[in-house]
Amino acid sequence: MPDEFSIIARLRRVIPSRAGVHAGADVPLGIGDDAAVVHCAAGNEWVLSTDAFVEGSHFLARLHPPDAVGYKALARAASDLAAMGAAPRHFLLTLALPGRRTGAWLDAFARGMAVAARRFQMRLIGGDVSRHTHVVAALTVIGETRTGRALTRSGARPGDALYVSGRLGAAQAGLDLMLRKGAAAVARRQRLSYSLNRHLYPEPRLALGAWLASEQLASAAMDLSDGLSTDLPRLCRASGAGAVLHTAAIPSVLDAPSSQRLPAHLKDAAVFRRALDGGEDYELLFTVPARLSARIPPSFRGVPLTRIGEITAKRNITLLDASGNDRPLRTRGYDHFAAS
Ligand SMILES: [Mg+2]
Repeated sequence: MPDEFSIIARLRRVIPSRAGVHAGADVPLGIGDDAAVVHCAAGNEWVLSTDAFVEGSHFLARLHPPDAVGYKALARAASDLAAMGAAPRHFLLTLALPGRRTGAWLDAFARGMAVAARRFQMRLIGGDVSRHTHVVAALTVIGETRTGRALTRSGARPGDALYVSGRLGAAQAGLDLMLRKGAAAVARRQRLSYSLNRHLYPEPRLALGAWLASEQLASAAMDLSDGLSTDLPRLCRASGAGAVLHTAAIPSVLDAPSSQRLPAHLKDAAVFRRALDGGEDYELLFTVPARLSARIPPSFRGVPLTRIGEITAKRNITLLDASGNDRPLRTRGYDHFAAS
């Protein structure tokens, strides 16, 4: 296995990074010392989050292309910054991997992470590499926001409108497809389906989060990592409230452009469950006070924004269908490979 220094040097060459001393810059001290030093603009504050992407739990090295592993490791972590309405800035990478993954696999991993870093405008400012039986990519991400403007889960109030971005269930549909068809489907990547793309290369809603925060439109927000039926109760608990969900309004993956050819009868219960329970869409779930909801457009930069319900004083969560029938929401914990 190559030594840690040479691996970090290889990562640094590919991934946008800051190394050494840069007097007066926003990163006065980057990679190469015991720790990095970063500078925050006056009137702003840091927003920090960490996320571990673990082989066997979150991805399968035999199935998932290494560039997608590198891309998604950073995208998942950056999504938490989107949820807070923070502008992404810097990240630190703690990487553990077996010797057999330090060659071509690591180069592809770094290329994927570099694509994500450029897309999200983030720079690597530190890292640590060690040997392990499985790949673990632990990312610490640092974002910036105006002081006091970070979006939280706890601000939803009864009467607020509940919105979601994008289409739900797409990433789960992509994972199901990959587990069913195996690596062959992934190998034909130039023809990736919409859902497979959403599973392998999720798009954290950074611009949307930043806009909601700067316009002070959202009373609460979070990103959907574990599925609506798991994450909505978290937002409601944090806010000390409940919600009514309008089931007919929940935008599912079959409403996506690539699926419009499918006949209506396929929009069945299974598709609905995937929209409700499927994980890893990394869309934003947010609430808007009623007096501000007219300012939420039908889409933001091409991403649909859909009103799916309301926050209630009653603390339970109710599903309400188009005929007016209601039933309680059942939470199914999201398990990546429960089907495998
Ligand atoms: Mg989150």
